[in-house]
Amino acid sequence: MSGSAPVLTIHWSASEIGGNCIEIVCDGHRILLDAGSPLWADASSTDEDLLPATLNTSQPMNALVISHPHQDHFGLLRLLPDDWPVWSGAPTEVLIRMTASRAGHSIRQTFQNFVSRAAFKVGPFSITPYLTDHSAFDAHMLLVECANRRILYSGDFRRTGRKAALVDQILRSPPKDIDVLLLEGTTLGRTESFPTEAFLEEQFVALFRDTPGRVYVTWSAQNIDRTVTIYRACKRAGRTLILDLYTVDVLEKLSALHQSLPRLGWPNITAVVTSSMKRLYQNSKRLNDPAFVSRCAKSGHATSAAKLSSIPNSVTMLRPSLLRDFLQKGVSLEPRDAWVFSMWSGYLQTAEYQETRRLFDAAGATFAKIHTSGHASASDLEEFSRRIAPRHLVPIHSFEWDAHLAGFPNGWRLRDGEAFPIP
Ligand SMILES: [Zn+2]
Ligand SMILES: [Zn+2]
Repeated sequence: MSGSAPVLTIHWSASEIGGNCIEIVCDGHRILLDAGSPLWADASSTDEDLLPATLNTSQPMNALVISHPHQDHFGLLRLLPDDWPVWSGAPTEVLIRMTASRAGHSIRQTFQNFVSRAAFKVGPFSITPYLTDHSAFDAHMLLVECANRRILYSGDFRRTGRKAALVDQILRSPPKDIDVLLLEGTTLGRTESFPTEAFLEEQFVALFRDTPGRVYVTWSAQNIDRTVTIYRACKRAGRTLILDLYTVDVLEKLSALHQSLPRLGWPNITAVVTSSMKRLYQNSKRLNDPAFVSRCAKSGHATSAAKLSSIPNSVTMLRPSLLRDFLQKGVSLEPRDAWVFSMWSGYLQTAEYQETRRLFDAAGATFAKIHTSGHASASDLEEFSRRIAPRHLVPIHSFEWDAHLAGFPNGWRLRDGEAFPIP
């Protein structure tokens, strides 16, 4: 093995949350850890805006390794060469392909799937994924070894979800002799508390029991921890969880890989078939699976938006587009109902959620926020860095690192696009 120093370059995410795109070059070979779209990306962003100027897309890539299926970690895939081989966990590939087809994009690269704690080799690199706790399902930390250097990439992680034990396990027996720890810092500078998913379950149970009418809950269909939390709370409170077709589809596809996940056919779960979701599944350029819709509709566990009101004790998944469908089909919001927002509260400021809020407020319904972060608290980040004790701690995925670096020994600040030969 050559001793020449591998070179690390953070293309995006050195000084912002999201858009992770990290390259390691070793002996003329190279890998990319994540290829995320920046959080500032919107419909007006051009491909030139989104692709980092320092990322060379004209040369081969040995592997593009995706840590987890959040857009800020894979969103650049559609702009990258078709022949760059992609590695991810199997559930991550499923979720990335679903997100892409829902948006009308195609993923042209070939995927290979890794398994947690099983090292795989590409060129001179050995890569070991470690399944971790995060709001995305199937999130991994990645240990990269090349030319006698060891680089640990934290990806995104937390210690408050249903897989917190996995992070505790890494803290108990951390990988040794780490030259570089690429550490996310999303929560640095935040002052809110970080309750556990188990605590959220108690909050949901209490609200479900205290609400005399229907409960509507807004959360991400791909946040499986949250789906499990809400499902468990429904069972405890004797309510039926009504899921839209997309969420039913997500659970069905992931259940093929993980038997323990709730899905249609389990007690207290009903699918609601709405016209807008039906159109998405009947569109050959979108989710393209009309048979799935008819299978759900005939499952004996489905209802229509028009019949929603006839299901007593329900908890219904809500997005602005679903609410439009429900209202068109005669569902009325009542003062005895409640709406729970179970996502990052920043999304509540968007025009469509402001309108949703206005409709529930006008009806006199109760409003509640029940949510916790997908990321580790500042003190958990400090403990993590102490246990790993890297020779260089390279900050990523935060706007706040410069103000908080003092709490982290061996900090080595890189800027986007700056090449760092690992000493
Ligand atoms: Zn992220
Ligand atoms: Zn994430």
